[in-house]
Amino acid sequence: MDKKINRIVIVGGGTAGWLAAGVIAATHQSGADGNAPKVTLVESSDVPTIGVGEGTWPTMKNTMKQIGLKESDLFRRCHAAFKQGGKFVEWVHGDGDFYYHPFTVPLGYGRLDVAPYVSDIVNFAVESNFQHSVCEAGLAPRTMAESEYQGQCNYAYHLDAGAFAELLKEHCTEKLGVEHIIGTVEDVTLTQDGAIEAICLTNKEVIEGDLFVDCTGFSSLLLGKALDVSFISNDDILFNDTALALQVPYEKDDSPVATHTIATAQNAGWIWDIGLTKRRGVGHVYSSKFISDDEAENNLRKYLGSQAEGLTPRKIGFKSGHRAQYWKKNCVAVGMSGGFVEPLEATAIMLVEIAARHIADNLPSDTRTMEIIEKRFNQQMDYRWRRVIDFLKLHYMLTQRPEPYWQAHRDESTVPESLKEDLAIWASRGPTAADFDSAIELFPAASYQYVLYGMGFKPDFSIQSYLYKGKQQAERIFQRNKQLTAQLLQTLPPHRTYIERWLSSTAN
Ligand SMILES: Cc1cc2nc3c(=O)[nH]c(=O)nc-3n(C[C@H](O)[C@H](O)[C@H](O)COP(=O)(O)OP(=O)(O)OC[C@H]3O[C@@H](n4cnc5c(N)ncnc54)[C@H](O)[C@@H]3O)c2cc1C
Repeated sequence: MDKKINRIVIVGGGTAGWLAAGVIAATHQSGADGNAPKVTLVESSDVPTIGVGEGTWPTMKNTMKQIGLKESDLFRRCHAAFKQGGKFVEWVHGDGDFYYHPFTVPLGYGRLDVAPYVSDIVNFAVESNFQHSVCEAGLAPRTMAESEYQGQCNYAYHLDAGAFAELLKEHCTEKLGVEHIIGTVEDVTLTQDGAIEAICLTNKEVIEGDLFVDCTGFSSLLLGKALDVSFISNDDILFNDTALALQVPYEKDDSPVATHTIATAQNAGWIWDIGLTKRRGVGHVYSSKFISDDEAENNLRKYLGSQAEGLTPRKIGFKSGHRAQYWKKNCVAVGMSGGFVEPLEATAIMLVEIAARHIADNLPSDTRTMEIIEKRFNQQMDYRWRRVIDFLKLHYMLTQRPEPYWQAHRDESTVPESLKEDLAIWASRGPTAADFDSAIELFPAASYQYVLYGMGFKPDFSIQSYLYKGKQQAERIFQRNKQLTAQLLQTLPPHRTYIERWLSSTAN
């Protein structure tokens, strides 16, 4: 029988749970006519959140705005900083090389592909875009003249994951009417047709719902355990399975804050370095098949030098992969309960935002259309997961590093067919905006260009030379980029200075 969706029960109060609650509640409250479904979030005080996840994607700006949060509150409460992209250090040869994946697309993007005209393909990011230079100079993406959520360069955030969940919790419960229950789920009851009927807490409270959102992290309590949806591993493509995480104090209160994530390749993984205003988040992601925990810890200590003294890293094991489906019956997984791959491009929180948006926008008023929504959600998320995996693998497979871990990444048998196909096409013309014109695409062609060319992949543009008649236009774009770069280097303030001035000018 068709049933009205009156109550949405979200289980889990990590970043995924509170973001999902915020997006769903903000969307449905705004059209409130007394028929808006009630949103309840249940979280355990005994099971901690993952507590990492500090890099985001530029989609977060819209998500914050849509939920109704002030950007200055995000910075103040979560010690946030601007993230203008990623700097990949020593991924090509391991001898000091680096390239950027900035968030601003190349000048002329969508009108003219400038890649065939750059002086050398590895200079693509520098010659087509000013953001590389802005990041290298440690500048903020905007001046005091711009207002919240605006910028001369595209940006996302680095933020303290624990503080972020707290901020979202406060906003959801105080402003968006989300009901908050603290309790540990010990049982899940199913209806005759295999949907979730209710969750039962250890205090014997039973919570019924019409739609259940599983945000229980790696345990995947509802979708994985109660509904028995299997896990598909990707560890044959992406080998990392362990992380060592540290919170590192700055040497001085006014130490510069990096305005990009720094990902430095190691012998069997990479080290992330994320600058918040109060501290840095630094960690080593690696494959336990290639190095021991001790060796990984040595790598991390070597990277940090004396700054690691007295600090003990926290070890986090993970499985790379995703569920065979993300929505089943009246249960949808958001966050790590649906899947996880290493945090190389901060895709996890972006996928949380996308999934939450999809649920909010497609929320059925009753169960009649649930099956169709389930089918479409699964198709779209499957596509996105494939894209994420391909994009991450791209960072590894073009390396020339000699270590066994990197050689294994280059092995053809570990490269997905879809990525091999892309590379075959790009060998003669490189990625273009038209390759990624799907409305559900995660990364624009620009992202692929930055990574491919940064890694030294050089298409033979002469094969399809008939496509390239824009040399003069490209020269004008390069000239314009030089001017813009010089101008921004003069006018944009240092990152930390800007944040401090801006926050003091917006203090209550
Ligand atoms: C090393 C590492 C680095 C990462 N870095 C990034 C990054 O830079 N960018 C990015 O986008 N993502 C990153 N991620 C991923 C990111 O941390 C997560 O996607 C994000 O925090 C969401 O987690 P979650 O809410 O799904 O799960 P969790 O944070 O694990 O939350 C699970 C919740 O479920 C609750 N729960 C569990 N069991 C029960 C139960 N029985 N009853 C009631 N409640 C229960 C817990 O109490 C908790 O509230 C990283 C992950 C790792 C492992």
